Amino acid sequence: MRILLVEDDVALGEGIRVALKPEGYTVDWLQDGVSALHALTHESFDLAVLDLGLPRMEGLAVLKALRSAHNPIPVLVLTARDSTSDRIAGLDAGADDYLVKPFDVDELQARMRALLRRSFQRAQPLIVHGDISLDPASHQVCYQGQPVVLQRKEYLLLHQLLCQPGKVHTRDKLVQVLYGWNEEVESNALDVHIHHLRKKLHPDLIRTVRGVGYIVDKAA
Ligand code: CA
Repeated sequence: MRILLVEDDVALGEGIRVALKPEGYTVDWLQDGVSALHALTHESFDLAVLDLGLPRMEGLAVLKALRSAHNPIPVLVLTARDSTSDRIAGLDAGADDYLVKPFDVDELQARMRALLRRSFQRAQPLIVHGDISLDPASHQVCYQGQPVVLQRKEYLLLHQLLCQPGKVHTRDKLVQVLYGWNEEVESNALDVHIHHLRKKLHPDLIRTVRGVGYIVDKAA
């Protein structure tokens, strides 16, 4: 799961980032509204945690811009404003949920899990590709009807590739999906995951496009 955290309070942002990491999320963190809108428009995230009071562009404006562009990403709003009218404004602008500061990190995690569960059940039916099936709701992957155990990053990688068969995914983009922007990544990490996927599923499933990246061909 790749999360975009948008919070200009450095201590709070760092606290959230640290708390979410062991949960297995890939967390990217931005501190202003303009960068957040740009990232959400051009990259794919599973959920955004969005503060409302942000420099350069208010969180509410970011949210409105996203929704008017029909971007369906689940958004959990963080707000220091706890008046009813502010909450309603947030929900009206397209927030899926909100938390009023100060909040407990455990509660943030629980709300995030609920939103992610809902969005996966709603938006993502079973993906079937030849002999492979991948269930985004349960993260279950089967090959010829038999469950295959994948590591988290192997699963993320497979999901990314199977969602757009016939499309070449650049190495940079795939590394971002797996690790976010700031994580130190061994240069061959991606190749190792690809190697494991080929071994666990099928050697010809993922094709290398030399100098560019990887592709899963459209199922015949
Ligand atoms: Ca703020």
